[in-house]
Amino acid sequence: MRIECIAIGTELLTTRRLDTNSVWLGERLASLGLAFHRKTAVGDSHEDLAALFREALTRSDLILTTGGLGPTFDDFTKECFAEVLGVELREDAQSREDMLAFYAARKRVPPESNFKQALLPVGAEALRNPVGTAPGVWWQDPKGHPGVRIVMMPGVPREMKRMWEEQVEPRLRALAGAPTHTLRMVVAGVPESALDERIREVRQRHGDLDWTILASLTQVELLARGADPAALEAARADFLPVLGEDLVGLGAGNLEDAVLEDLKARGETLALAESMTGGLLAARLTAIAGASEAFLGGATVYSPRAKMDLLGLPPDLLAREGTVSEATSRALAEAVRARLGATWGLGLTGNAGPGTEGKAALGAVFIALAGPDGTIAKALTLPGDRADVQLRAAASALDLLRRALRNG
Ligand code: ATP
Ligand code: MG
Repeated sequence: MRIECIAIGTELLTTRRLDTNSVWLGERLASLGLAFHRKTAVGDSHEDLAALFREALTRSDLILTTGGLGPTFDDFTKECFAEVLGVELREDAQSREDMLAFYAARKRVPPESNFKQALLPVGAEALRNPVGTAPGVWWQDPKGHPGVRIVMMPGVPREMKRMWEEQVEPRLRALAGAPTHTLRMVVAGVPESALDERIREVRQRHGDLDWTILASLTQVELLARGADPAALEAARADFLPVLGEDLVGLGAGNLEDAVLEDLKARGETLALAESMTGGLLAARLTAIAGASEAFLGGATVYSPRAKMDLLGLPPDLLAREGTVSEATSRALAEAVRARLGATWGLGLTGNAGPGTEGKAALGAVFIALAGPDGTIAKALTLPGDRADVQLRAAASALDLLRRALRNG
């Protein structure tokens, strides 16, 4: 199946808005064992849109669009597709009713312009929008293009996601026939190239599966897809010993989820003292619902003053060892653990760049973990720009804790 994505909206061509919809859709397709062969972002221009739709109809079996379904003058995705296909628009009674109900629930009356959202190309089916007013469109075998499917979804990411999950994906699954099963293994603390080499032999042994490696700054994901659940189970069993303790988890979670789950399972808690990451690690943990069961909190101790006043680090320690040092990271971890009465304390200090800071080399990072059996520390030199170094440092700190939890 040749699948094409068209993200519609002039703002997507500027620096003001990134097209995140197509990235999200790409991930969802991957979980079905499908992929885009083409993605385009296009402005709210009738002419450009019409030209693109004409091309898409000649080269793709499934065309996914997002945006331009709203009530304003620059929303004309449906109108444009209908025109290209030479089809009339007709009001869909259910969509009109849904819109009235949506407004009634908010004690408002829809403006007249809104009713154009209830229009539907003849032969197409409306996709109800439970969280907004613009319905989507499912259009199978449009006039003159048998075998083609067009799916139009709203641009608002929250609305698009709900519509995809509840209405589009189930229809695609039904079309795709054989179900695809996925094995997802998340690995941390190993560079992608080293991992690739380590797993080569076992991956080849399971070469009948469809393999993908997705590396990010914080972890590497290994994905295998296949129609036979037993083949995936066999791959899982063979991979476990090869990945060893570098395996963060199987299934949906990431590094943060794994650490929080391990802490919760043990009834333990974590406190953070962040210097060079400026609260990034705390933000990543608190992005996960239920983090409060294991994460007590932390301090962003960016300046020497904050390290002394908030966590009581001795001035002579900082003067003697420097703020970017193993001794300081240990003192941070121990101080925050003691102040919050946590099972574990993590301390991070380093130089994220772009320049050198005092004697600290660019990318120099010290991470310490204080726990029930004492304190361990790790010195790293991390590559990348400022944001990269901060993110890698946050992930390395989590991974240090994760390994301590698994081994303890
Ligand atoms: P509405 O009914 O809200 O007008 P719509 O279907 O017409 O919905 P747009 O007007 O194109 O959608 O976009 C609505 C909002 O969603 C805007 O804030 C827009 O920036 C955002 N948006 C649109 N397309 C994308 C995209 N591909 N990725 C991320 N955000 C997007
Ligand atoms: Mg709009």
